[in-house]
Amino acid sequence: MPVQRPVVLVTGGSRGIGAAVARLAAERGYDVAITFRSEREAAEQVLAACHNAGAKAVACQGDVSVEADVVRLFEETEAALGPISHVVNNAGITGKSSKLAQSSAETIRACIDINVLGALWVAREAARRLPTSPDDGARTIVNISSVAASLGSPNEYVWYAASKGAIDSLTIGMAKELAPEGIRVNAVSPGMTKTEIHERSTQDAGRLERLRPNIPLGRIGEPEEVAEAVLFLMSDAAAYITGANVPVSGGR
Ligand code: NDP
Repeated sequence: MPVQRPVVLVTGGSRGIGAAVARLAAERGYDVAITFRSEREAAEQVLAACHNAGAKAVACQGDVSVEADVVRLFEETEAALGPISHVVNNAGITGKSSKLAQSSAETIRACIDINVLGALWVAREAARRLPTSPDDGARTIVNISSVAASLGSPNEYVWYAASKGAIDSLTIGMAKELAPEGIRVNAVSPGMTKTEIHERSTQDAGRLERLRPNIPLGRIGEPEEVAEAVLFLMSDAAAYITGANVPVSGGR
């Protein structure tokens, strides 16, 4: 009988960090479900890369801030790939950057709805389903936070930093709550990473280059470097790690 490959669900897997996690997971022997909100073509490119790596892979459309969508994303994943053993809670936005005083209610609400409520819906669904997945391998949740949670993102998006502070607390609580079930919960906190999230938050094309001197290692990170940390936390090499928050930030 063919051995069942572990199944990972990656929210926001169509672009950026989520896409890099999905591709690396496929290469490392996982079957992969990615979710996306609107960029179907990008999602299909990630699927093709996963298939090329020999994985079963599906893409499911849904908005993580909508509770019913999140339930459906898990249902569709299980129907296509079988029980889920890993969840990467990654989908997130910053919103248009500004000082807090100039920010709009819409910007703040969208960020909190997606980054906090969305992450909670995903975390809750994972907490409901992972305990019933076969426990013959690792079962993990990795929440994607940000070093913004400790830096505060002044003059850019303090609401976003606050949303990631919530992810850090969520990780600590979930890790303790799910440890008796044998499920490990950790966070990865990227620093400045080369994805489209930046150009979607500001028209300031020179921003990344201007901020580069603040990064001790002197360069912007690659999504693949964040993915390596996520895949490590999902693996049995991290079997005694839960409730941890790993910065992948070039020392920031
Ligand atoms: P990108 O903008 O490159 O990708 C965002 C992904 O999330 C896309 O797949 C997008 O789908 C999906 N998404 C956005 N909103 C929703 C929604 N409402 N419902 C479902 N999916 C959604 O972002 P990054 O890869 O840069 O960011 C990924 C995570 O990493 C985020 O949580 C972010 O906060 C965090 N992070 C990123 C840093 C960076 O410098 N890049 C630094 C620190 C943390 P679609 O393609 O359909 O739009």
